[in-house]
Amino acid sequence: MTTPLTHTPIYQSREEIVAMQEQKLQQLLAYLNQNSPFYKELFAANNIDIADIKTLDDLKRIPTTVKEDLQTRNDDFMCVGRDKIIEYSSTSGTLGSPVTIALTENDLQRLTYNEYSSFICADGSPDDVYQLMLTLDRQFMAGLAYYSGIRMIGAGIIRLGPGVPSLQWDTILRLKPTAIVAVPSFIHKLIQYATEHHIDINSSTVKKAICIGENIRNTDFSLNILGKKITDAWDIKLYSTYASTEMQTAFTECGHGKGGHHQPELLIVELLDEHNQQVAPGEPGEVTITTLGVEGMPLLRYKTGDICQYYDEPCECGRTTLRLSSIIGRKKQMIKFKGTTLYPPSLFDLLNGMEEILDFVAEVYSNEIGMDEVLLHILPINYTDECDRKIRANLQARLRVSPYVTYVQYDEIQKMQYKESGRKPFKFIDRRK
Ligand SMILES: [Zn+2]
Repeated sequence: MTTPLTHTPIYQSREEIVAMQEQKLQQLLAYLNQNSPFYKELFAANNIDIADIKTLDDLKRIPTTVKEDLQTRNDDFMCVGRDKIIEYSSTSGTLGSPVTIALTENDLQRLTYNEYSSFICADGSPDDVYQLMLTLDRQFMAGLAYYSGIRMIGAGIIRLGPGVPSLQWDTILRLKPTAIVAVPSFIHKLIQYATEHHIDINSSTVKKAICIGENIRNTDFSLNILGKKITDAWDIKLYSTYASTEMQTAFTECGHGKGGHHQPELLIVELLDEHNQQVAPGEPGEVTITTLGVEGMPLLRYKTGDICQYYDEPCECGRTTLRLSSIIGRKKQMIKFKGTTLYPPSLFDLLNGMEEILDFVAEVYSNEIGMDEVLLHILPINYTDECDRKIRANLQARLRVSPYVTYVQYDEIQKMQYKESGRKPFKFIDRRK
């Protein structure tokens, strides 16, 4: 399969996009039927003749693929021999055991094109210099993708890695990047560091931030508490981007900040309810993807576990494809807490908004009768009764139920957040059975 490196259909009409996707879908089905042990078996077991699947609507006749399939039969998704594999990426393993996603040379070119389009969408140009505040190691696909996409634009790159605010600021002042790529809660830490050390952030050269891994917006596209905290202190423009290793494709916001733009030449996207039916615009559904143009490990109707909403009216930027909201939650992380349903992102938003809290980790576990319990490990501004009272009262008021709270020191929080892969801080520990 070839990679569509020169043709960007994002401004085409809906009809043209559908026709392009349906053609690519048929190529994908023929390719899977020939090369994928997992999908060959799936087609046979479900009496699916791929010649009958012609339209996007026909796709519904194919059963979905779930993360457990990838975990238990990882190698059966591989469509090429090991001699064709260049890069072994892996998922972060936040939910269960990590999955290997192997990429061929063509897949790496596709990945490059994907982030090239993403950064162009986020107002990137050859004049930009990006400081990457993330790892390029540890089998982290996104780091590699950002690097190669930015390189294709012809912009400058500073590979600084995650953490260490003092080094980040030294480098910003010395090399004068125009943009940063970082986790939003780390951007907030950068601001705190600058304030403590009398660095005038608004006279720095940084004018925009590509925000990865955490939400900066509510589902109506307004900035959430973390997004507001950042932009209140620092006059920079925020662009959210959402991706996963399995889909090898990103949804990135344009300058209008109205959701992540779908790249239709790289992905077919469906948002499904619990019965695998497409939901309406503005309704929460599980992001379900079919990769287009992937050679090593293509996926067909793969349920990502991420719950989002979508919007399908054309964007002010002229792009016609659908836009995804920030992640409402991961399906498996849904907390059924004393009669209410809660997803970690909304809990994080609440904790981020409390002045008394410097940092936190939320832990969920099953109690003796199998119900979900929430324990918050909180690093407070100071350990006083007054601080404790305010935190508990605020939690009670906003959640209407009281989670357990324990106060921890700075070192303990660091240990909890970075103990696993070191790729990004873990703010959520799931110990449920
Ligand atoms: Zn747009």
